[in-house]
Amino acid sequence: MKTVLTNCTIIDCTGKPPTENMNVIIEGNGITQLKPGIYEQGKDDEKRVFDLEGGYVLPGLWNVHAHLGDLIPDPKHLLETESAIDYAIRAGRNAMDAIRVGVTGIRVLGEDHFADVAWKRAFDSGVFVGPRLFVCGRAISATGGHGHGTLGAVEVDGPYEMRKAVREQLKHGADQIKLMVTGGVMTAGEGMQESQLLQDEIEAATVIAHLKGKRVAVHAWGTEGVKAAIRGGVDCIEHGLLDAESVAMMVDRDVFYVPTLRPTQDKDFLLGIGMPEFMIEKLRGSAQIHLEAFQKALKAGVKICCGSDSNPVGETTLIEIEQLVRAGMTRMDALVSATRTSADLCGMLEELGTVEVGKLADLIVVAADPLEDISNIRKLKMVLKGGNLVETRKPEELANFRELFLS
Ligand SMILES: [Zn+2]
Repeated sequence: MKTVLTNCTIIDCTGKPPTENMNVIIEGNGITQLKPGIYEQGKDDEKRVFDLEGGYVLPGLWNVHAHLGDLIPDPKHLLETESAIDYAIRAGRNAMDAIRVGVTGIRVLGEDHFADVAWKRAFDSGVFVGPRLFVCGRAISATGGHGHGTLGAVEVDGPYEMRKAVREQLKHGADQIKLMVTGGVMTAGEGMQESQLLQDEIEAATVIAHLKGKRVAVHAWGTEGVKAAIRGGVDCIEHGLLDAESVAMMVDRDVFYVPTLRPTQDKDFLLGIGMPEFMIEKLRGSAQIHLEAFQKALKAGVKICCGSDSNPVGETTLIEIEQLVRAGMTRMDALVSATRTSADLCGMLEELGTVEVGKLADLIVVAADPLEDISNIRKLKMVLKGGNLVETRKPEELANFRELFLS
């Protein structure tokens, strides 16, 4: 089947300026032609033509720091009471909602019961329609370290236990490995600057993962932890209260950065309705230094990606993109961050992340120009995944995710 998107402006997210009055030709699941002018209908029966009426075509959006089954806040205490199957169903619903707002790629960074692996398979094989998932299975922390007791985190000590835990995730189908290197927000009784996993443990993980051609992402707020992680050979820093030295190290070693600005910068989230007081305190306390870290990284040219670290994953992806702009990125750079750079982080740049001939047709169409107002990414008209049209309307009978689980 051939699909033609006509009468549109393309923001290809390679960083080049937009091109007006274009046609996107999709054959099978890939983009085969991008050409200007009025589309000639011709006699080809095996095609469908969508007149986008001046709409904007972009690559599908990405959220590269997500926990599909996590709940902050969790007013119904579901994480303590629900079964593994309830958890998995909720996680899948979260992902399926995300593609309906234009998020076609999600990097899942720590999930219980290998629910992420199961949903990835279900979406890849077409059992359900959902975004492309890039999964890590269970996150790995030090004994009693960040995230222990939540989302199935594995607790390890020393390089031997680390190797075993990494191999275990790879055995279950992990696309990347996630380490908890420092303290964080959601675990009580630890500071964000606290170093936890040591450099020999980090190095053990990167050696094993890299042997399999997989990348290592680290949760690291604390500046010393960030540096230990980079010295240990990791590929991406999540959160990161970066100083000038850590930024220079990231540039030098080509390390990606997923700042996850939303949790510290979004005022509504910081009001913390239902969030434990100790979390609100940590988020407020780190807001300014986190913002400055992001701005240092931006200025230095670190590869910055879009991840919201909050739920619902679709809704918060859009908030994170707006947050990137508010924090100082140009609108174009924020779009590139949520598409091209995020696909690059997942090792998918050859196939995804931009609107170019030869790539898979994971695309969104919005009615107004996001380069004029970034919130126009919310004016969604159409989503395609691999050239297939995704139903974006919420079925009437479907309950609201937020009401079901977050309030
Ligand atoms: Zn996280």
